[in-house]
This record gives sequence, structure tokens and C-alpha cells, in this order.
Amino acid sequence: MAKITLMNVSKHYKGGEIQALKDITLEIEDGKFFCLLGPAGAGKTTTIKLIAGIEQVDSGQIFMDDQEITDLLPNQRDVAVAFETYALYPQRTVRENLAFPLRAPIRKKEWSEEQIQRRVEEIAHLLGIHELLDRLPRQLSGGQRQRVALGRALVRKPKAYLFDEPIAHLDAKLRHRMRGELRRIQLELGITTIYTTPDQLEALSLADYMAILNEGKIEQVGSPTEIYQRPANVFVARFVGDPPMNILRSEVEGDEISLFGLAKLSLPAAIRSKLTQAEIEKSLMVGVRPRDIRLVSPSSGEALLRGQVKYVQVLGETSILTVTMDSHEVRVKMNTQDAPNRGEAVGLSFAVQDCHFFNPFTEKRLD
Ligand code: ATP
Repeated sequence: MAKITLMNVSKHYKGGEIQALKDITLEIEDGKFFCLLGPAGAGKTTTIKLIAGIEQVDSGQIFMDDQEITDLLPNQRDVAVAFETYALYPQRTVRENLAFPLRAPIRKKEWSEEQIQRRVEEIAHLLGIHELLDRLPRQLSGGQRQRVALGRALVRKPKAYLFDEPIAHLDAKLRHRMRGELRRIQLELGITTIYTTPDQLEALSLADYMAILNEGKIEQVGSPTEIYQRPANVFVARFVGDPPMNILRSEVEGDEISLFGLAKLSLPAAIRSKLTQAEIEKSLMVGVRPRDIRLVSPSSGEALLRGQVKYVQVLGETSILTVTMDSHEVRVKMNTQDAPNRGEAVGLSFAVQDCHFFNPFTEKRLD
């Protein structure tokens, strides 16, 4: 187990043409399950490769506890890695692939042959690949190969697990099961785990805490609850939460905000005091989550905005409505049994305390 620290780490590819990571500073606490969440190309795999020693930093330092590991070889770092692409040994059976990390020369004599076989069987059972132990990788499906790759990382108890989208190729049901299993294993062993994913629901459900990475920069670090409830900027607000937060361009008019020029909302004092500091006089970005909007009758005094239902997307118990007003669209998440039909006129109501306010120039959170 170990704390992992990245200090001012930068990484370029193609002779500087592509900047994959820009001055990243991160501290991953000992024994925690840490998710690195970000869209494709954000720099997640690069971060894992740098910590594993598969790639070298251009500048900055990496520490494991208080030991600097920036220039250590991969096999000197005591981490176990599983990538989205499985990288299994094609000529070796699943059993041999799983046993391989335990037989590495650096770990000679740590494991007897009997202990190796017992551990391999244990992991194979855990991952539901026991019946595949004598097959070669080419005789497996993509999802089965991915479980073997994961097993090869889990077979050891290193100082840290580095998982790069490790269950991306599993079907939805198996992915759900594997998430639960991974979390259980991690809690049992208490091994520091860094897990990358582009799937915000996966990160929210797995992480003790997480970082949002975007174009090689950290946008926010925090617990899933902190990030969901207080997104630091518009990027995070839109990226975390499904469907994404509605962002309404609004004008400030004295003590009020005018939403799309269609409705007035009183401006909270805490936000008003921030406006002058942030040198914003006129406009604001107001965020409201789809599940914080209530449908009311369009003739009701409670209706802040009035519009027409353009689409209804039914997702079992919940439905997502797209409501249009003038050229604007707002999404609402609600119980399917209460959802109106396409084309109906509706009123939208929400509380000012459920709104998130962002600077329209920097897109940063105001309170
Ligand atoms: P994904 O979710 O698609 O795997 P990612 O967040 O893991 O994305 P990285 O793979 O770390 O992102 O890539 C970060 C940036 O660096 C991208 O612009 C990518 O194209 C680039 N990149 C990564 N590896 C290389 C490489 N070996 N040579 C050139 N560019 C690279």
C-alpha cells in the first residue's frame, strides 16, 4: 500500500506537438479507490503509463510514499497494471498468463509452485474464468480476455493497482457485477487503486474520490458527492450527471436574473456579492440539473418557464423530456408514470437554491 503523488507532471508526444498532460499535481491517498474520469484523449492512459513507468515524464516528479520513483524501471515500482487492451501472452494458456506475474524473476522464491497454483485458482474463481484456465487467449471472447487481463493484475498484492478502463469490453450486466467485485476486493485488500474511465456513472459509483481530467488538465478533485453537488466549472457540471446539467444563459437585472429573457429569478445575495469581484455586470450562466426541475401546469403561477415537450425518452422508471421554448431547450428528468406526451404544453419550476452559478467568461463556479 502506498500514497502516490504526482508533482507538476507534464508529458508531450510527437516531439512536443501533442501535449498529453499539462502540469498535473495530484495526491492519491494510501489505500483509497481513486478514479480518473475524463473524455477520450484527456490523458488518462498517459497518467497510468507514467505512474507505471511505461512512459517517462518530460518534467515533474512522481513519488510513492516518500520515495521518488520518476526514473525507476517499471519492475522496480511494485504496481500491477491492467489496460483496456489486454496484452496477454498469445502462446500461453490463461493459467500461465495469470501465474506469470508471480513467476517474475524479481519475485523469485516469494511464491512456491503450490501457492502459485492456489492463487491462480482463487483469482479465476473470483472472476468467473475458472473453466477457461487451459485455453489460449485466441480461444476467448473479448470480455473473457479482459477478465484474464484484470486477473493478471489482481493475482499479486502490489503497493498499487493501476486500472486503465479495465472493464470497458464487458457487457453491461457483467460490467455491473465486476464493478461490485473490484470495489469489494479493493476494500478487502486496502490496496491503493487508480482506475480510469470515461463513464461518469462508473466513477461516481466506485470512487472514494476522483479527479476530472480534460485536455491534459485537472478540472476538479473531490469526492463523488462534492463533485456532483458543487461542480467547479461548466465542463465538470456538464460532464458529471446524466443527462447533463442544463446551462441557461441569463442576464442580470438588478436583484434578479432573467432566464433566456423569458422568466425572472431572484439573485441570491451570496452570488450578487461575487459578481462585482468577478467583474461580471450583465450575464451569468445558471446551471440546473434535469432532476431538480418540476413540471407544473403552464397556467400556474409557479411556472418559471413555459414550453412544449419535443421528445420523451423513456428509460424504464424514469424518463427524460426535452422541452423547447423559443430557440432554447431544457431537459427534465422525471418519473415515467407522471411524464406528459410529446407536443404537450408544460410549465417548468425550480428552486433558486438548486441552481449553480458560473462566470460566463471563465466558466468557473461563483459561490
Ligand atoms: P482514451 O479514453 O481515448 O483512451 P485517454 O484519456 O486515455 O483517452 P491518452 O491516451 O492519455 O488519453 O492520450 C492523451 C493525448 O495524447 C491524446 O491526444 C492522444 O492522441 C495523445 N497520445 C497518446 N499516446 C500517444 C503516442 N504514443 N503518440 C502520440 N500521441 C499520443
